[in-house]
Amino acid sequence: MEAVSWPAASCSVPLVSSGSGLKQTSLQSTFKSSSRVWLPRQGGLSMRAYCAVASAEVAAEPEQVPLKPILTPAQQALQPAKPPPAQSGEIELDPEKLAEEMNTCSPLEIMDRALGMYGNDIAIAFGGAEDVALIEIAHQSARPYRVFTLDTGRMNPETYRFFTEVERHYNIQIEYVFPDAGEVEKLTKDKGMFSFYQDGHEECCNIRRIRPLSKKLQGLRSWITGQRRDQLPVSRGKLPVVQIDPSFDGRDGPETLLKWNPLASMSHNEIWRFLTNMNVPINELHTKGFASVGCEPCTRSILPWQHEREGRWWWEETNSKELGINKGNMNNVRPYRRQQEFGGDLYNNPSIIKFSREEMRALGKTTSREKSGVVCLYAPWCPHCQAMDAAYKELATRLEGTPVYIAKFRADGVNKMMCQQELMMTTFPTILFFPKNSTKFIKYPSERRDINSLHSFVMSFM
Ligand code: SF4
Repeated sequence: MEAVSWPAASCSVPLVSSGSGLKQTSLQSTFKSSSRVWLPRQGGLSMRAYCAVASAEVAAEPEQVPLKPILTPAQQALQPAKPPPAQSGEIELDPEKLAEEMNTCSPLEIMDRALGMYGNDIAIAFGGAEDVALIEIAHQSARPYRVFTLDTGRMNPETYRFFTEVERHYNIQIEYVFPDAGEVEKLTKDKGMFSFYQDGHEECCNIRRIRPLSKKLQGLRSWITGQRRDQLPVSRGKLPVVQIDPSFDGRDGPETLLKWNPLASMSHNEIWRFLTNMNVPINELHTKGFASVGCEPCTRSILPWQHEREGRWWWEETNSKELGINKGNMNNVRPYRRQQEFGGDLYNNPSIIKFSREEMRALGKTTSREKSGVVCLYAPWCPHCQAMDAAYKELATRLEGTPVYIAKFRADGVNKMMCQQELMMTTFPTILFFPKNSTKFIKYPSERRDINSLHSFVMSFM
Protein backbone atom coordinates (compact mmCIF):
# COMPACT_ATOMS: atom_id res chain seq x y z
CA MET A 1 0.00 0.00 0.00
CA GLU A 2 1.30 3.41 -0.90
CA ALA A 3 0.95 6.61 1.11
CA VAL A 4 -1.09 9.35 -0.48
CA SER A 5 -0.83 12.85 0.98
CA TRP A 6 -4.15 14.52 1.39
CA PRO A 7 -4.40 18.27 1.68
CA ALA A 8 -5.94 18.80 5.09
CA ALA A 9 -7.94 21.84 4.02
CA SER A 10 -9.61 20.03 1.18
CA CYS A 11 -11.61 17.48 3.16
CA SER A 12 -13.03 18.73 6.39
CA VAL A 13 -15.94 16.39 6.07
CA PRO A 14 -16.71 13.70 8.61
CA LEU A 15 -16.34 10.40 6.87
CA VAL A 16 -15.27 7.68 9.22
CA SER A 17 -17.51 4.69 9.16
CA SER A 18 -18.61 2.65 12.11
CA GLY A 19 -21.02 -0.20 12.47
CA SER A 20 -23.92 2.19 12.97
CA GLY A 21 -23.15 4.54 10.12
CA LEU A 22 -20.70 7.36 9.66
CA LYS A 23 -19.25 8.75 12.83
CA GLN A 24 -19.05 12.50 12.93
CA THR A 25 -15.26 12.42 13.02
CA SER A 26 -13.32 14.69 10.75
CA LEU A 27 -10.80 13.23 8.37
CA GLN A 28 -8.78 16.31 9.20
CA SER A 29 -8.45 15.15 12.74
CA THR A 30 -7.32 11.79 11.42
CA PHE A 31 -4.58 13.60 9.60
CA LYS A 32 -3.52 15.58 12.64
CA SER A 33 -1.80 12.64 14.27
CA SER A 34 0.11 12.08 11.08
CA SER A 35 0.02 14.48 8.17
CA ARG A 36 -0.53 11.55 5.82
CA VAL A 37 -3.24 8.96 5.54
CA TRP A 38 -2.70 5.46 4.21
CA LEU A 39 -4.88 4.93 1.20
CA PRO A 40 -4.48 2.61 -1.74
CA ARG A 41 -3.40 4.73 -4.69
CA GLN A 42 -6.44 5.13 -6.94
CA GLY A 43 -5.35 6.81 -10.15
CA GLY A 44 -7.92 9.33 -11.33
CA LEU A 45 -10.18 9.11 -8.28
CA SER A 46 -12.20 12.21 -7.60
CA MET A 47 -12.26 13.89 -4.22
CA ARG A 48 -15.58 12.26 -3.48
CA ALA A 49 -14.30 8.85 -4.42
CA TYR A 50 -11.17 9.38 -2.30
CA CYS A 51 -13.38 10.21 0.65
CA ALA A 52 -15.34 7.07 -0.07
CA VAL A 53 -12.18 4.97 -0.27
CA ALA A 54 -10.96 6.52 2.97
CA SER A 55 -14.14 5.59 4.74
CA ALA A 56 -14.06 2.07 3.35
CA GLU A 57 -10.48 1.69 4.56
CA VAL A 58 -11.31 2.81 8.04
CA ALA A 59 -14.44 0.67 8.08
CA ALA A 60 -12.35 -2.34 7.17
CA GLU A 61 -10.44 -2.18 10.46
CA PRO A 62 -11.55 -4.99 12.75
CA GLU A 63 -13.87 -3.91 15.53
CA GLN A 64 -14.31 -5.43 18.97
CA VAL A 65 -17.95 -6.46 18.86
CA PRO A 66 -19.31 -7.43 22.28
CA LEU A 67 -20.97 -10.85 22.26
CA LYS A 68 -24.69 -10.78 22.84
CA PRO A 69 -26.02 -13.24 25.42
CA ILE A 70 -28.42 -15.83 24.07
CA LEU A 71 -31.73 -15.33 25.84
CA THR A 72 -34.49 -17.83 26.43
CA PRO A 73 -37.98 -16.76 25.24
CA ALA A 74 -38.90 -16.02 28.86
CA GLN A 75 -35.85 -13.81 29.31
CA GLN A 76 -36.56 -12.09 26.01
CA ALA A 77 -40.05 -11.24 27.19
CA LEU A 78 -38.55 -9.45 30.20
CA GLN A 79 -36.24 -7.28 28.06
CA PRO A 80 -37.21 -3.59 27.90
CA ALA A 81 -39.17 -2.79 24.75
CA LYS A 82 -37.25 -1.11 21.91
CA PRO A 83 -38.21 2.52 21.30
CA PRO A 84 -40.89 2.74 18.60
CA PRO A 85 -39.77 3.80 15.12
CA ALA A 86 -39.97 7.51 14.37
CA GLN A 87 -43.42 8.60 13.32
CA SER A 88 -43.83 10.89 10.37
CA GLY A 89 -44.56 13.92 12.49
CA GLU A 90 -41.42 13.38 14.53
CA ILE A 91 -39.10 14.26 11.70
CA GLU A 92 -39.19 18.00 11.48
CA LEU A 93 -38.07 18.87 8.08
CA ASP A 94 -37.28 21.92 6.04
CA PRO A 95 -36.39 20.30 2.69
CA GLU A 96 -34.97 23.47 1.17
CA LYS A 97 -32.74 24.12 4.15
CA LEU A 98 -31.66 20.49 4.14
CA ALA A 99 -30.89 20.66 0.41
CA GLU A 100 -28.81 23.78 0.94
CA GLU A 101 -26.98 22.17 3.83
CA MET A 102 -26.27 18.97 1.89
CA ASN A 103 -25.50 20.61 -1.44
CA THR A 104 -21.73 20.45 -1.06
CA CYS A 105 -21.68 17.14 0.78
CA SER A 106 -20.25 13.99 -0.75
CA PRO A 107 -22.62 11.28 -2.00
CA LEU A 108 -21.54 9.17 0.96
CA GLU A 109 -22.53 11.84 3.45
CA ILE A 110 -25.85 12.38 1.71
CA MET A 111 -26.53 8.65 1.70
CA ASP A 112 -25.57 8.33 5.33
CA ARG A 113 -27.86 11.17 6.31
CA ALA A 114 -30.76 9.74 4.32
CA LEU A 115 -30.44 6.21 5.69
CA GLY A 116 -29.88 7.52 9.19
CA MET A 117 -32.99 9.68 9.08
CA TYR A 118 -35.40 7.15 7.64
CA GLY A 119 -34.16 3.66 8.48
CA ASN A 120 -36.55 1.08 7.11
CA ASP A 121 -38.85 3.73 5.62
CA ILE A 122 -36.45 4.60 2.84
CA ALA A 123 -35.30 2.56 -0.17
CA ILE A 124 -32.87 2.94 -3.04
CA ALA A 125 -34.40 2.83 -6.52
CA PHE A 126 -32.04 0.74 -8.63
CA GLY A 127 -32.41 0.88 -12.40
CA GLY A 128 -29.88 -1.79 -13.26
CA ALA A 129 -27.39 0.69 -14.72
CA GLU A 130 -24.53 2.75 -13.32
CA ASP A 131 -26.79 3.70 -10.43
CA VAL A 132 -25.29 0.59 -8.81
CA ALA A 133 -23.01 3.35 -7.42
CA LEU A 134 -25.84 4.09 -4.98
CA ILE A 135 -25.71 0.55 -3.63
CA GLU A 136 -21.94 0.70 -3.31
CA ILE A 137 -22.20 3.98 -1.40
CA ALA A 138 -24.96 2.65 0.84
CA HIS A 139 -22.79 -0.38 1.49
CA GLN A 140 -19.90 1.88 2.50
CA SER A 141 -22.11 3.79 4.90
CA ALA A 142 -22.35 0.55 6.90
CA ARG A 143 -26.02 1.24 7.57
CA PRO A 144 -28.79 -1.21 6.71
CA TYR A 145 -30.46 -0.30 3.44
CA ARG A 146 -33.25 -1.48 1.14
CA VAL A 147 -33.09 -1.66 -2.65
CA PHE A 148 -35.98 -2.01 -5.06
CA THR A 149 -36.21 -2.16 -8.83
CA LEU A 150 -39.01 -2.04 -11.36
CA ASP A 151 -39.21 -5.18 -13.42
CA THR A 152 -41.23 -4.05 -16.42
CA GLY A 153 -41.03 -7.48 -18.03
CA ARG A 154 -39.25 -5.91 -21.02
CA MET A 155 -35.69 -5.62 -19.72
CA ASN A 156 -32.62 -7.00 -21.50
CA PRO A 157 -31.41 -10.43 -20.35
CA GLU A 158 -28.13 -8.72 -19.40
CA THR A 159 -30.00 -6.58 -16.90
CA TYR A 160 -31.72 -9.54 -15.25
CA ARG A 161 -28.35 -11.24 -14.91
CA PHE A 162 -26.91 -8.04 -13.48
CA PHE A 163 -29.61 -7.90 -10.78
CA THR A 164 -28.58 -11.36 -9.63
CA GLU A 165 -24.90 -10.42 -9.67
CA VAL A 166 -25.56 -7.33 -7.58
CA GLU A 167 -27.58 -9.38 -5.08
CA ARG A 168 -24.69 -11.80 -4.71
CA HIS A 169 -21.99 -9.15 -4.55
CA TYR A 170 -23.66 -7.17 -1.77
CA ASN A 171 -25.48 -10.08 -0.18
CA ILE A 172 -28.79 -8.28 -0.47
CA GLN A 173 -32.23 -9.15 -1.74
CA ILE A 174 -33.58 -6.67 -4.25
CA GLU A 175 -37.30 -5.95 -3.89
CA TYR A 176 -38.75 -6.49 -7.38
CA VAL A 177 -41.77 -4.39 -8.29
CA PHE A 178 -44.03 -5.69 -11.05
CA PRO A 179 -46.78 -4.07 -13.13
CA ASP A 180 -50.39 -5.07 -12.75
CA ALA A 181 -50.87 -8.19 -14.88
CA GLY A 182 -54.42 -7.19 -15.90
CA GLU A 183 -53.30 -3.79 -17.18
CA VAL A 184 -50.43 -5.27 -19.18
CA GLU A 185 -52.73 -7.90 -20.64
CA LYS A 186 -55.25 -5.28 -21.72
CA LEU A 187 -52.61 -3.05 -23.32
CA THR A 188 -51.03 -5.85 -25.33
CA LYS A 189 -54.43 -7.22 -26.33
CA ASP A 190 -55.66 -3.81 -27.51
CA LYS A 191 -52.48 -2.49 -29.07
CA GLY A 192 -49.87 -5.21 -29.36
CA MET A 193 -46.40 -5.41 -27.86
CA PHE A 194 -44.87 -2.37 -29.52
CA SER A 195 -47.56 0.33 -29.45
CA PHE A 196 -45.05 2.85 -28.07
CA TYR A 197 -43.36 3.18 -31.47
CA GLN A 198 -46.65 4.47 -32.87
CA ASP A 199 -48.20 6.54 -30.12
CA GLY A 200 -45.35 7.29 -27.74
CA HIS A 201 -43.97 5.58 -24.67
CA GLU A 202 -46.19 7.25 -22.12
CA GLU A 203 -49.05 4.74 -22.00
CA CYS A 204 -46.83 1.68 -21.73
CA CYS A 205 -44.51 3.39 -19.23
CA ASN A 206 -47.49 4.36 -17.13
CA ILE A 207 -48.59 0.76 -16.88
CA ARG A 208 -45.21 -0.92 -16.54
CA ARG A 209 -43.29 1.69 -14.59
CA ILE A 210 -45.16 4.66 -13.18
CA ARG A 211 -48.12 2.99 -11.52
CA PRO A 212 -46.07 0.18 -9.95
CA LEU A 213 -43.55 2.73 -8.73
CA SER A 214 -46.28 4.94 -7.34
CA LYS A 215 -47.69 1.98 -5.44
CA LYS A 216 -44.27 1.08 -4.06
CA LEU A 217 -43.58 4.63 -2.93
CA GLN A 218 -46.87 4.80 -1.09
CA GLY A 219 -45.32 2.37 1.35
CA LEU A 220 -42.26 4.56 1.96
CA ARG A 221 -41.49 7.91 3.49
CA SER A 222 -38.41 8.58 1.44
CA TRP A 223 -36.51 7.22 -1.55
CA ILE A 224 -33.10 7.52 -3.13
CA THR A 225 -32.50 7.89 -6.86
CA GLY A 226 -29.43 7.91 -9.11
CA GLN A 227 -30.46 11.02 -11.03
CA ARG A 228 -27.71 13.40 -12.03
CA ARG A 229 -27.79 16.96 -13.28
CA ASP A 230 -25.72 16.14 -16.35
CA GLN A 231 -28.12 13.45 -17.61
CA LEU A 232 -30.59 15.88 -19.11
CA PRO A 233 -29.40 19.45 -18.57
CA VAL A 234 -32.69 20.97 -19.75
CA SER A 235 -34.79 19.35 -17.04
CA ARG A 236 -32.27 18.09 -14.49
CA GLY A 237 -29.83 20.99 -14.59
CA LYS A 238 -31.03 22.31 -11.22
CA LEU A 239 -31.77 18.99 -9.56
CA PRO A 240 -31.37 19.42 -5.77
CA VAL A 241 -29.66 16.72 -3.72
CA VAL A 242 -32.81 16.39 -1.66
CA GLN A 243 -36.35 17.57 -2.29
CA ILE A 244 -39.98 16.83 -1.58
CA ASP A 245 -40.89 14.57 -4.44
CA PRO A 246 -42.75 16.69 -6.97
CA SER A 247 -44.47 13.69 -8.58
CA PHE A 248 -45.27 11.02 -6.01
CA ASP A 249 -46.91 10.67 -2.64
CA GLY A 250 -45.43 8.71 0.20
CA ARG A 251 -46.91 6.84 3.13
CA ASP A 252 -47.72 10.07 4.96
CA GLY A 253 -49.71 11.53 2.07
CA PRO A 254 -49.19 14.22 -0.53
CA GLU A 255 -46.04 16.34 -0.47
CA THR A 256 -44.34 14.36 2.25
CA LEU A 257 -42.18 11.94 0.32
CA LEU A 258 -38.56 13.01 0.52
CA LYS A 259 -36.46 12.22 -2.52
CA TRP A 260 -32.67 12.10 -2.26
CA ASN A 261 -30.38 12.42 -5.26
CA PRO A 262 -26.92 11.77 -3.80
CA LEU A 263 -25.28 11.61 -7.24
CA ALA A 264 -26.85 14.89 -8.44
CA SER A 265 -23.60 16.77 -8.78
CA MET A 266 -21.51 13.92 -10.14
CA SER A 267 -20.69 13.80 -13.81
CA HIS A 268 -20.88 10.74 -16.03
CA ASN A 269 -17.06 10.48 -15.97
CA GLU A 270 -16.85 10.76 -12.19
CA ILE A 271 -19.39 7.97 -11.76
CA TRP A 272 -17.46 5.72 -14.07
CA ARG A 273 -14.13 6.45 -12.39
CA PHE A 274 -15.77 5.59 -9.10
CA LEU A 275 -17.29 2.32 -10.34
CA THR A 276 -14.05 1.24 -11.96
CA ASN A 277 -11.87 2.09 -8.99
CA MET A 278 -14.17 0.45 -6.50
CA ASN A 279 -14.46 -2.70 -8.62
CA VAL A 280 -18.25 -2.58 -8.60
CA PRO A 281 -20.25 -5.06 -10.75
CA ILE A 282 -21.26 -3.52 -14.06
CA ASN A 283 -24.18 -4.26 -16.37
CA GLU A 284 -22.75 -6.01 -19.43
CA LEU A 285 -24.79 -3.66 -21.64
CA HIS A 286 -22.41 -0.84 -20.80
CA THR A 287 -19.61 -2.74 -22.51
CA LYS A 288 -21.78 -2.96 -25.63
CA GLY A 289 -22.19 0.79 -26.08
CA PHE A 290 -25.26 1.33 -23.90
CA ALA A 291 -24.84 4.49 -21.85
CA SER A 292 -28.36 4.26 -20.47
CA VAL A 293 -30.19 1.08 -19.45
CA GLY A 294 -33.94 0.61 -19.68
CA CYS A 295 -36.41 -1.66 -21.43
CA GLU A 296 -35.01 -3.63 -24.35
CA PRO A 297 -37.30 -2.22 -27.07
CA CYS A 298 -36.77 1.38 -25.95
CA THR A 299 -33.02 1.52 -25.33
CA ARG A 300 -30.17 1.36 -27.77
CA SER A 301 -26.45 1.85 -27.83
CA ILE A 302 -25.13 5.27 -28.76
CA LEU A 303 -22.18 6.73 -30.62
CA PRO A 304 -19.34 8.36 -28.68
CA TRP A 305 -20.49 11.92 -29.35
CA GLN A 306 -24.13 11.34 -28.55
CA HIS A 307 -25.70 12.27 -25.25
CA GLU A 308 -26.62 9.29 -23.08
CA ARG A 309 -30.32 10.14 -23.18
CA GLU A 310 -30.24 9.81 -26.96
CA GLY A 311 -30.18 6.08 -26.42
CA ARG A 312 -33.70 6.16 -24.95
CA TRP A 313 -36.95 6.58 -26.93
CA TRP A 314 -34.91 7.83 -29.88
CA TRP A 315 -38.02 8.17 -32.01
CA GLU A 316 -39.26 10.89 -29.66
CA GLU A 317 -37.72 14.20 -28.65
CA THR A 318 -36.22 15.57 -25.46
CA ASN A 319 -39.33 17.21 -24.07
CA SER A 320 -41.13 13.93 -23.80
CA LYS A 321 -38.20 11.95 -22.38
CA GLU A 322 -38.72 12.69 -18.74
CA LEU A 323 -40.71 9.70 -17.60
CA GLY A 324 -43.57 10.23 -15.22
CA ILE A 325 -41.04 9.04 -12.64
CA ASN A 326 -39.06 12.21 -13.12
CA LYS A 327 -41.71 14.41 -14.63
CA GLY A 328 -41.36 16.71 -11.66
CA ASN A 329 -37.95 17.67 -12.99
CA MET A 330 -39.69 19.64 -15.67
CA ASN A 331 -40.78 21.98 -12.91
CA ASN A 332 -37.18 23.06 -12.72
CA VAL A 333 -37.60 24.88 -15.98
CA ARG A 334 -40.92 26.40 -14.91
CA PRO A 335 -42.27 28.94 -14.60
CA TYR A 336 -41.23 29.74 -18.11
CA ARG A 337 -38.95 32.70 -18.11
CA ARG A 338 -40.85 35.77 -19.10
CA GLN A 339 -40.45 36.71 -22.71
CA GLN A 340 -39.57 40.22 -21.61
CA GLU A 341 -36.26 38.86 -20.35
CA PHE A 342 -35.41 38.26 -23.96
CA GLY A 343 -36.76 41.57 -25.22
CA GLY A 344 -40.04 39.84 -26.11
CA ASP A 345 -38.33 37.41 -28.46
CA LEU A 346 -35.44 34.97 -28.71
CA TYR A 347 -32.29 34.85 -30.80
CA ASN A 348 -32.04 38.62 -31.13
CA ASN A 349 -28.85 39.02 -33.09
CA PRO A 350 -28.49 41.31 -36.12
CA SER A 351 -26.96 38.38 -38.03
CA ILE A 352 -30.05 36.18 -37.52
CA ILE A 353 -32.70 36.63 -40.20
CA LYS A 354 -36.33 36.54 -39.13
CA PHE A 355 -38.49 34.70 -41.67
CA SER A 356 -42.13 35.47 -42.35
CA ARG A 357 -44.66 32.68 -42.77
CA GLU A 358 -44.57 33.07 -46.56
CA GLU A 359 -40.76 32.98 -46.68
CA MET A 360 -40.64 29.92 -44.48
CA ARG A 361 -43.20 28.06 -46.51
CA ALA A 362 -41.40 28.97 -49.75
CA LEU A 363 -38.07 27.76 -48.34
CA GLY A 364 -39.53 24.39 -47.48
CA LYS A 365 -40.95 23.95 -50.97
CA THR A 366 -38.34 25.54 -53.19
CA THR A 367 -36.68 23.30 -55.77
CA SER A 368 -33.37 25.09 -55.91
CA ARG A 369 -31.71 27.18 -53.23
CA GLU A 370 -28.96 29.68 -53.90
CA LYS A 371 -27.51 29.57 -50.41
CA SER A 372 -27.25 27.12 -47.56
CA GLY A 373 -28.84 28.11 -44.28
CA VAL A 374 -29.96 27.07 -40.82
CA VAL A 375 -33.42 27.85 -39.47
CA CYS A 376 -34.61 27.38 -35.93
CA LEU A 377 -38.34 26.81 -35.49
CA TYR A 378 -39.07 28.09 -31.99
CA ALA A 379 -41.53 29.52 -29.50
CA PRO A 380 -40.32 32.35 -27.24
CA TRP A 381 -42.14 30.95 -24.17
CA CYS A 382 -40.58 27.50 -24.52
CA PRO A 383 -37.88 26.85 -21.87
CA HIS A 384 -35.95 24.60 -24.23
CA CYS A 385 -35.79 27.38 -26.83
CA GLN A 386 -34.84 29.85 -24.12
CA ALA A 387 -32.05 27.57 -22.94
CA MET A 388 -30.60 27.66 -26.47
CA ASP A 389 -30.71 31.47 -26.79
CA ALA A 390 -27.02 32.17 -26.12
CA ALA A 391 -25.77 29.21 -28.20
CA TYR A 392 -27.85 30.12 -31.24
CA LYS A 393 -26.71 33.74 -31.14
CA GLU A 394 -23.12 32.58 -30.79
CA LEU A 395 -23.64 30.28 -33.79
CA ALA A 396 -24.70 33.28 -35.88
CA THR A 397 -21.62 35.19 -34.76
CA ARG A 398 -19.31 32.29 -35.59
CA LEU A 399 -20.80 31.87 -39.05
CA GLU A 400 -20.57 35.53 -39.98
CA GLY A 401 -18.62 35.90 -43.22
CA THR A 402 -19.35 32.30 -44.28
CA PRO A 403 -21.76 31.40 -47.10
CA VAL A 404 -24.31 30.03 -44.58
CA TYR A 405 -27.11 32.21 -43.24
CA ILE A 406 -28.76 31.75 -39.84
CA ALA A 407 -32.48 32.35 -39.49
CA LYS A 408 -35.35 31.87 -37.10
CA PHE A 409 -39.05 31.30 -37.52
CA ARG A 410 -41.63 31.60 -34.79
CA ALA A 411 -43.45 28.29 -35.08
CA ASP A 412 -46.14 28.43 -32.41
CA GLY A 413 -49.73 29.70 -32.72
CA VAL A 414 -51.06 29.78 -36.27
CA ASN A 415 -47.73 28.57 -37.68
CA LYS A 416 -47.56 25.42 -35.63
CA MET A 417 -49.61 23.15 -37.85
CA MET A 418 -47.79 24.22 -40.98
CA CYS A 419 -44.41 23.47 -39.32
CA GLN A 420 -45.63 20.08 -38.13
CA GLN A 421 -47.00 19.09 -41.50
CA GLU A 422 -44.40 20.57 -43.82
CA LEU A 423 -41.20 20.94 -41.80
CA MET A 424 -40.94 17.81 -39.64
CA MET A 425 -41.43 19.76 -36.43
CA THR A 426 -42.54 17.71 -33.44
CA THR A 427 -41.30 19.85 -30.55
CA PHE A 428 -39.65 23.22 -29.94
CA PRO A 429 -36.99 23.99 -30.89
CA THR A 430 -36.56 22.23 -34.23
CA ILE A 431 -33.36 23.07 -36.09
CA LEU A 432 -33.24 22.56 -39.85
CA PHE A 433 -30.40 22.81 -42.34
CA PHE A 434 -31.32 23.78 -45.91
CA PRO A 435 -28.44 22.85 -48.25
CA LYS A 436 -27.65 24.93 -51.30
CA ASN A 437 -28.85 23.55 -54.66
CA SER A 438 -31.05 20.96 -53.03
CA THR A 439 -34.74 20.37 -52.63
CA LYS A 440 -34.28 18.61 -49.31
CA PHE A 441 -33.63 19.77 -45.79
CA ILE A 442 -32.00 18.02 -42.84
CA LYS A 443 -33.33 18.02 -39.32
CA TYR A 444 -30.74 18.35 -36.55
CA PRO A 445 -31.11 15.00 -34.77
CA SER A 446 -29.25 15.64 -31.54
CA GLU A 447 -30.35 16.87 -28.16
CA ARG A 448 -27.07 18.66 -27.67
CA ARG A 449 -27.78 22.32 -28.15
CA ASP A 450 -24.52 23.78 -26.97
CA ILE A 451 -22.61 25.99 -29.35
CA ASN A 452 -19.96 23.42 -30.28
CA SER A 453 -22.51 20.76 -31.18
CA LEU A 454 -24.59 23.18 -33.25
CA HIS A 455 -21.49 24.49 -34.97
CA SER A 456 -20.15 21.06 -35.87
CA PHE A 457 -23.58 20.11 -37.28
CA VAL A 458 -23.48 23.05 -39.67
CA MET A 459 -19.80 22.61 -40.53
CA SER A 460 -20.39 18.98 -41.50
CA PHE A 461 -22.34 20.25 -44.55
CA MET A 462 -19.82 22.86 -45.65
S1 SF4 B 1 -39.52 1.88 -21.63
FE1 SF4 B 1 -40.66 1.09 -23.40
S2 SF4 B 1 -41.21 -1.04 -22.95
FE2 SF4 B 1 -40.49 -0.07 -21.04
S3 SF4 B 1 -42.34 0.56 -20.05
FE3 SF4 B 1 -41.64 2.32 -21.22
S4 SF4 B 1 -42.58 2.17 -23.25
FE4 SF4 B 1 -42.87 0.20 -22.18
